[in-house]
Amino acid sequence: MLHKAIGIGLLSLLNLAHAGPSKPNILFIMADDHSKNAISCYGNKDIQTPGLDRLADGGMRFEHALTPNSFCTPARAAVLTGKYSHRNGVTHLNQEFDGSQRTFPKLLQAAGYATALFGKWHLLSEPTGFDHYCVMKMQGMAQDPTVWEKGETWVAWSPKDRKSAFKGGRKLIGYNNDVMTDEALGWIKNRDQTKPFCLLLHPKPPHAPYSPAKRYEDFLKDVVISEPATLLDDYEGRTPAAIAETMRSNRLLLGPPWQQLRKQLEKQNPGISRDELTRAIYQDYIKGYYRLVMGVDDNITRVLDYLEQSGLDQNTLVIYTSDQGFSLGEHGFYNKQWMYEPALHQPLIVRYPSKIKAGSVHESMVNHVDLAPTLLDFAGLPIPDDMQGYSLKPILEGRAEKVRDASYYHFYSHGENNLPEMIGVRTAEYKLIHYPGMDDAYQWELFDLKRDPDEMRNLYGNPEYSEVLEQMESELKLLIQSVGDPVKAPKLM
Ligand code: CA
Repeated sequence: MLHKAIGIGLLSLLNLAHAGPSKPNILFIMADDHSKNAISCYGNKDIQTPGLDRLADGGMRFEHALTPNSFCTPARAAVLTGKYSHRNGVTHLNQEFDGSQRTFPKLLQAAGYATALFGKWHLLSEPTGFDHYCVMKMQGMAQDPTVWEKGETWVAWSPKDRKSAFKGGRKLIGYNNDVMTDEALGWIKNRDQTKPFCLLLHPKPPHAPYSPAKRYEDFLKDVVISEPATLLDDYEGRTPAAIAETMRSNRLLLGPPWQQLRKQLEKQNPGISRDELTRAIYQDYIKGYYRLVMGVDDNITRVLDYLEQSGLDQNTLVIYTSDQGFSLGEHGFYNKQWMYEPALHQPLIVRYPSKIKAGSVHESMVNHVDLAPTLLDFAGLPIPDDMQGYSLKPILEGRAEKVRDASYYHFYSHGENNLPEMIGVRTAEYKLIHYPGMDDAYQWELFDLKRDPDEMRNLYGNPEYSEVLEQMESELKLLIQSVGDPVKAPKLM
């Protein structure tokens, strides 16, 4: 009898050890300004990103993961809350997030998860819902960044006082993303192992400045990088007022980071054309950007190695994404803030070996507001009714083909740089963009994404597309109503 009892006891212990905690660990990695087109598994031929490719090989890669508002602060708030900007209260850059509202880390923490946040925050108020945080305030330094941690008095940055927030903190010595990853891995190692964990790791790169890790300073130095087909876009037929000469924060030719280079080129080559200047600036820009991407990818490899070595890889759901996409020279741009495809799309890769088929690729549209519901769903928690996204768990488990037919976008004007407000809808085939602040003739853009994936021909007003336009206007109207956005789009109301 005794022998039998011990046998059963051992068996149950073994079963327990084998089963592990019932809820998955979550490792949520969100980089800053990472275009999916700068990742080799997404088709980039200029660089290799073995870390991200390895993640995609083991899970699902989304071709059409869209941001609802292509700017750092608002996009981050949408991810945390599962709500669009008008509902989570963060519509603009550098706007303070109301930390008393419900976020997915807060709900996971309440359900018994150990929660932590490392890296770039950019939501101004003190992070809430985390057992521990270790973040840079605002942009953070590329080298030897200062971090603020839980327990220290938090002073939020504000435009009226740009200094007090940066007092105190702890300086980490080394390249930003390397040392932040060290800190995050240290937290996993020392965590409370009786609980599942949810770790948010937010790399600063490939956000500017283009100061890479030392090991990448000469990367691609003597290589000529291929140019995107639309690098020398003249914007004819679209909304010229939206792409004004004053809009310095998007066009390579006018971009502040390259004005010194431009002056130097103009001095050395009298009469150099604007196109030639754009091409030369593009080479400088894209190499700087890729050098930062390599530093992101190295640390993905380190994290994946650690998960495997520690045996955590099987029960950890790993997500890689970015707050928004980025233009890699398409339309002569280098930034985000548009509703055009490069800024609208971010990478999204999800790996969870027991549930998600390795090496799968998903084509239908998903949105940043879907991430919070998805993570709650995987943790077995109810999704609050006021979250506006859809759980992607059925897609990830191969049980559903899509969660939406149309995706909503609302970018709020950003004054200093003359960036116009945009309200739009994208379906699998078409995109309609409304610029409420533009003159009547330039208020609308309609694109046929199948025939014109580079979005070079505005079809608004084209009689062949009158039915499509009607459908898209009605889609947009429906979306404005269903997400409850209090916008005024006269033609639609
Ligand atoms: Ca960003």
